[in-house]
Amino acid sequence: MADTMPVDENCLFCKIVAGLIPCARVYEDEKVLAFLDINPINRGHTLVLPKAHFPSLLELPDSEGESLLRGLRLVAGAVQKQTRCGGFNCIQNNFASAGQVIFHSHWHIIPRFNSDGLPDWPGGAYSDSKEMEELARSINAHILKA
Ligand code: AMP
Ligand code: ZN
Repeated sequence: MADTMPVDENCLFCKIVAGLIPCARVYEDEKVLAFLDINPINRGHTLVLPKAHFPSLLELPDSEGESLLRGLRLVAGAVQKQTRCGGFNCIQNNFASAGQVIFHSHWHIIPRFNSDGLPDWPGGAYSDSKEMEELARSINAHILKA
């Protein structure tokens, strides 16, 4: 772990990373930690996070990408083998409006089963393809400005 790793002393997940609060650890390497969610949506629901404190996806530097992706893939594969789930959701909540409660970025690996009773996301619609294309262009303009 780098000495300069960002830490927030008031953050629950930073305390878990530091070993100050226990967790049911699933995986750990130099940069990534994974542990069971204390309130699982389905049994085996696991959280995967960078050890360093980044509040949301928007602060996460490119340098975290490779280790995070590797951790996600290893954990998801192992959860699938152990729980024999048909599939899994890999979800990350950003900001309170999206349900983020712990502001240390983390990914949920949620085992899913054909008849687990969890609701599907509702699908909306655009009024026409022009509206859709304009919206895509407007979002892209923010990327070009960044
Ligand atoms: P989010 O809503 O994306 O911020 O998710 C936070 C998740 O952290 C929730 O699913 C909680 O159940 C989980 N959680 C909170 N405290 C703990 C803890 N001490 N150990 C494991 N999971 C936790
Ligand atoms: Zn933190």
